Amino acid sequence: MNARELNEQLEPTEVLRFIGYHKSSPTASGKEIRDYCPIHKGNKQKSLSISQENHLYICHSCNATGDLIDLYAKSSGLEFRDAVEQLASQFHPHHLSFTREPSSAPKLPHKTSSEHSKISVNDRWNKCSETGKHPYLSKKKISSPPGVRFGQDDHGNHSLVIPFYNAERRLQTLQFINEHGKFFLKDISYLSSFFLLGDIKEGEQLYIAEGVATAMTIWEALEKKIVVASVGSAGNIAVAVAAIRKNFPSLRIKLALDNSKAAMDALHKVEPPFTYSIPDFSSANIPEGIKVDDFNDLISVCGFSTEDVKYQLEKSLDWNEKIKKE
Ligand SMILES: [Zn+2]
Repeated sequence: MNARELNEQLEPTEVLRFIGYHKSSPTASGKEIRDYCPIHKGNKQKSLSISQENHLYICHSCNATGDLIDLYAKSSGLEFRDAVEQLASQFHPHHLSFTREPSSAPKLPHKTSSEHSKISVNDRWNKCSETGKHPYLSKKKISSPPGVRFGQDDHGNHSLVIPFYNAERRLQTLQFINEHGKFFLKDISYLSSFFLLGDIKEGEQLYIAEGVATAMTIWEALEKKIVVASVGSAGNIAVAVAAIRKNFPSLRIKLALDNSKAAMDALHKVEPPFTYSIPDFSSANIPEGIKVDDFNDLISVCGFSTEDVKYQLEKSLDWNEKIKKE
């Protein structure tokens, strides 16, 4: 299956639901579906129009246009290729060999994605050990975060295993971290799920970070008194915030962003109100050839103290103020 075939098989309303824009309420009118645009976060009129015939969309307000994969990619801050993979794993988990070229791969009989995922996530999690060590923790200068386990990824590599839960606190997927990188279970979407340090309480503050090491650094710098979530990637920030707010509408959200373009792009997709902080490397000694961008790098690469990190975190910026100035 290639991207064009995937687009044909996707259901426009299912893709809108998967995007999870909180304003979304699709309505059919003739051969098109109208909705609030999840790309520019429209909330006044249903400017998004999706053709039920060819599964192409146009937004009459921001002028974005493309297929359903492009709609999902732009709404979630993802590369087209990653959007293909995530949509395929959500809706067609057994057709994962995607190319842009037509493929002649035979169709396999398939289980639904929820059947498949329920078995594998809990099985995989139960096979992991609650105690262990991993070089990633020492490299990042963090202690073992509570709630994580140790186990093997799909290729047998010893990994730190991070449980990602949905807003209803059910285990949704696992992230494996080892010397080859960070990987989620490949047949399940991690979008809208997160790993949590501490317990969310309505009305209190919640910090949101991308990576687990960053979340752990923030949690330690704030003396483990403030709840911190790791959402895994910039593309998941806005989606996860929306999912969390459905269950905890009065949480005070603070984004502890990476100093990166992807994070800045993601910032524009988060529904206000929120505040945010970005690590400041201007006074840091950065070893040559090393790339730094997150709050953990301040400690693990630049040798800053947890007090320095706390000071930087508390210099928050208010999104509404920034918007007024723009
Ligand atoms: Zn738009």
